[in-house]
Amino acid sequence: MQCERLTRLVKSWYLQVKDEALAPARMVDFMEKHIAECPVCLVDDEVRGEVNRITRIILPPSKMPKAKQEEAAAARQAAEAAAAAAQAPEAEGEIEDEEDEL
Ligand SMILES: [Zn+2]
Repeated sequence: MQCERLTRLVKSWYLQVKDEALAPARMVDFMEKHIAECPVCLVDDEVRGEVNRITRIILPPSKMPKAKQEEAAAARQAAEAAAAAAQAPEAEGEIEDEEDEL
């Protein structure tokens, strides 16, 4: 990371995240915004990788936008599969009430 300003900002944001004063997702937004606008970061080839690395550190995998999309898709497929299974004809009449006659 060549940008001293971003280095300083990341340290400050990271402390806030640790104190739970800043949401990790917000910190990711701030970093993305900075590297999209900062002239130093725009010409730094490595800063994108650094931001990705920091994102992996502060964000749990389930909170990653891509993982979130995959998770939602998987949940939708599971719901569809469950709905299809519930409508399957072979499920009908299989369950009988067995009374205990003692
Ligand atoms: Zn910068």
